[in-house]
Amino acid sequence: MSDTTKCLIIGSGPAGYTAAIYASRANLAPIIYEGLQPGGQLTTTSEVENFPGYPDGVMGAQLMDDLRRQAARFDADLRTGVITMVDFSKRPFIAVSDDGTKIKADTVIIATGASARYLGLDDERRYAGLGVSACATCDGFFYRGRSVAVVGGGDTACEEAYYLSGLAKQVYMIVRKDYLRASKAMQKRVTEKENITILFNTQTRGLFGEEFVEGAHLVEYAGTPEEHEFDIKIDGFFLAIGHKPNTDIFRGHIELDEQGYIKLTGNDQSTSVDGVFAAGDVADPVYQQAIIAAGSGCRAALDAERFLMEHQS
Ligand code: NDP
Repeated sequence: MSDTTKCLIIGSGPAGYTAAIYASRANLAPIIYEGLQPGGQLTTTSEVENFPGYPDGVMGAQLMDDLRRQAARFDADLRTGVITMVDFSKRPFIAVSDDGTKIKADTVIIATGASARYLGLDDERRYAGLGVSACATCDGFFYRGRSVAVVGGGDTACEEAYYLSGLAKQVYMIVRKDYLRASKAMQKRVTEKENITILFNTQTRGLFGEEFVEGAHLVEYAGTPEEHEFDIKIDGFFLAIGHKPNTDIFRGHIELDEQGYIKLTGNDQSTSVDGVFAAGDVADPVYQQAIIAAGSGCRAALDAERFLMEHQS
C-alpha cells in the first residue's frame, strides 16, 4: 500500500498532535503516525497541573486524549503504527510503516520525543505511577512534606533534587560514583541545602512497599570489601539518569547532536534536511516540557506550510 501527503507527522506527544491541529487547519491533510505509545510520555504520568488552560489540573492521559480529539476534529489522518524506515535523500520523502505502508511526503515533522532512562529494575515497573517517577516537575507536588530519593548525579538530578527539596521534608540523592557530575553551581546548591542528603557510591537494588513505594534497598560500595546493604524510607523514587531521544531510525538521514537529539539549524524548527522539521523533546535537550513541545509543534506546522508555499511547482 502506498499513500501520499503534503505533511507526514511522526510521533504523537503534545508536539505531534499540535502540529497535526495546525497542519490540518492549514489544509495540509497531514498523516500522523502515533507510534508505540499514542500520546507519548504524558500518558504515563498522573495529574498534570502546569499545562495552561486546566486550572484544576488534568490527568496526563486525558490531556493527550483532548489533543488527539482536537486533531481528529480537523480530519488529521491519525494512524496507529510506527515508522520504521525513512529516506530523506530526495523529495518527496519516503517513510515506511511497520505494516509495510509506504508514504510519500512533501514535508515531514519529526515529533518522536524522548524516553526517560530507567535503571532496569523490575520494581520500577511494579511501582510505576505508585511512587516511581522520572519527572520531578510533573509529580513533585504530590510529595509535599514527605521523603523522596532522586537517582543520578548530573545536572538534571541536582535540579530535580533541589526542586523537590522545596516541597519534600527529606530528599536523598543516590549517586553511584563518589562525585557529582553536575556543574559546580548545581553541586553547590544541593550540597548547601539542609534537607538534601547525598548518598555517594550507592546504587539501588530494589524498592519495597505494600501498594505504593515505602522505601528503597540500597547498596554502598557494591563489589568491594566495604560493600554493605541498607534501606531508606521514602515515598517517592525519582529517576534522573538522563533521557534518550527517540532518533534511532533517523541516524544517518539527518544531523543529530552528540547526545542523539535532532539539531535545529535556524531560528525555526528546520533540520539539516530542507523540508524536514522537528518539534518537541526529540530536538530539545533543555526544557522538555509539554507546553514547550506543543508550541514547537505549532511552529513546525507553520514552517511546513511556508515551505510548501515556497516550493509549489
Ligand atoms: P547526565 O548524563 O549528565 O547525568 C546522568 C547521571 O545519571 C550521572 O550522574 C550518571 O552517573 C547517572 N547515571 C546514569 N546511568 C546510571 C545508572 N544506571 N545508575 C545510576 N546512575 C546512573 O544527564 P542529565 O540528564 O543530568 O543531563 C543531560 C545534559 O543536559 C547534560 O549535558 C547536562 O549538563 C544538561 N543539563 C543542563 C541543565 C542546566 O544547565 N540547567 C539542567 C539539566 C541538564 P555517572 O556520573 O556515574 O555516569
